[in-house]
Amino acid sequence: MTAAVPERPLPAPDEPDTAPFWAATRSHKLTYQVCLDCGDVVFYPRRHCTGCLSGSLDWRASAGLGTVYTFTVIRQHGHPYFRSRLPYVVGWIDLAEGFRMLAEIAVPPADAAVGLPVQLSWEDHAEVSIPVFRPA
Ligand SMILES: [Zn+2]
Repeated sequence: MTAAVPERPLPAPDEPDTAPFWAATRSHKLTYQVCLDCGDVVFYPRRHCTGCLSGSLDWRASAGLGTVYTFTVIRQHGHPYFRSRLPYVVGWIDLAEGFRMLAEIAVPPADAAVGLPVQLSWEDHAEVSIPVFRPA
């Protein structure tokens, strides 16, 4: 008897605020929002601008280039999928378009560094793709 391979928990693709974001990931587009009233960049996806509360937000696509703001090495996890991948690196990425996002950084833990230039890649699943960053 072989043990079942644990499956990655995935986001709900039909949550109202984030549905357009996850739909765009299927075509490997990393989207963010820009306020049409004050110009603030908004991320994660929301219904209102975090700067002025306007509901006029436009979706844009990021080029996927950024730098590591900070990171941590995950060395233990309670979920079987993530436990099967230990150790791995997760960090905050500063994207060139002006937003910061949390994502996995696909580097050996010893190679992770603040300021590391990274570029976007994708981990594909049936209904969504998960953004993962690699050294640029
Ligand atoms: Zn605004």
